[in-house]
Amino acid sequence: MAGTRSAGRGTRKARPVRVPQPAAPVPETPSFPRVDVSPRLLAWYGKAGRDLPWRRTRDPYSVWLSEIMLQQTGVVAVIPYYERFLGRFSDVAVLAAAPVEEVVELWAGLGYYSRARNLHAAARQVVEIHGGHFPQSLEELTALPGIGRSTAGAILAIAFDIPAPILDGNVRRVLCRLFAWQDDPRSSAAEKQLWNWAEDLTPVERPHHYAQAIMDLGATLCTPRSPACERCPLESLCRARALGLEEELPRRRVKPAVPIRIQVALLLEQEGRFLVRRRPLSGMLGGLWEFPAAAVAAGSDPAAAASRLLRDLGGTGTLRLAGGVDHVYSHFKLDLRLYRGLAPEAPGIAEDVESRWLTATELAGCPLHGAHKKALALL
Ligand code: SF4
Repeated sequence: MAGTRSAGRGTRKARPVRVPQPAAPVPETPSFPRVDVSPRLLAWYGKAGRDLPWRRTRDPYSVWLSEIMLQQTGVVAVIPYYERFLGRFSDVAVLAAAPVEEVVELWAGLGYYSRARNLHAAARQVVEIHGGHFPQSLEELTALPGIGRSTAGAILAIAFDIPAPILDGNVRRVLCRLFAWQDDPRSSAAEKQLWNWAEDLTPVERPHHYAQAIMDLGATLCTPRSPACERCPLESLCRARALGLEEELPRRRVKPAVPIRIQVALLLEQEGRFLVRRRPLSGMLGGLWEFPAAAVAAGSDPAAAASRLLRDLGGTGTLRLAGGVDHVYSHFKLDLRLYRGLAPEAPGIAEDVESRWLTATELAGCPLHGAHKKALALL
């Protein structure tokens, strides 16, 4: 009989009977067919997609550069940096050949500076390992510094039109709402489920447009607060909308209180010039410039810490408090106290590659990190 196997005449050892295992709990899924999502998104993107500089090319280098910059930073802030970087480093070989200090300095102000160092390290690997061409596999892309699965997916989809899923912050929010994910969106179960949904929804046709469309939906309509559901192409499919939970999802974490750290910095003047130094390349804000600074231990006197710092620099003289600057980092708030002083007797402070005496005009163009850039107003 077609489609069946002959039982034969001989005896056979009975095979062990497989006891069906209870199925793993299946998360609630919406009743809409997945295929409905991408056509709606693509049609909406055709009318409402954003015109962004990196959308005018499919060059993998430009796509990669924009994706790295957009990892922690909004579009408006990224645009001038993206254009400046392409102006200075026209392709991956030019970037790889540049000193890492120059890359970090051009990144000054964009934040999360490990991205700049990884960018440079990845450019070198693309040149040395891949002959200057971006690889087209998830494994090879994620092996490059600074490229995670979502960034790799974006490069594959946008530059090479390969149907690879992405799961950046915007897409996470859209999927949590579309599928009404009500548990902790940061759990490993959520991570697995969200990637599954992201993969399910990614179409074979026009994946480069789809990637940009779902990111745009999260950035422009399905925003963290007050999503514009009435204008959303997925409104009739969205479970969070149906349940009236669009404002509640994804569940927010109660943020722990951010610690405050106190530092002192010296605005040390010598013949109209101020001393700045470059921070070591490794570590936080590595490669950027700052006024000489030191941490103040809890309960210690900032003025005494400033005097000690001056002595350590080989300087003498009187300091006066010029003002303070507050700056917020991802894991602490900085309370920076700035002390001003003349340094006519500071022969120990030599100008070398890691320190400079700069005029106020020169300081305005110096790649100081954020808090010390704010301090320029006190000069
Ligand atoms: S209907 Fe509202 S909550 Fe749902 S995906 Fe659209 S904008 Fe987001």
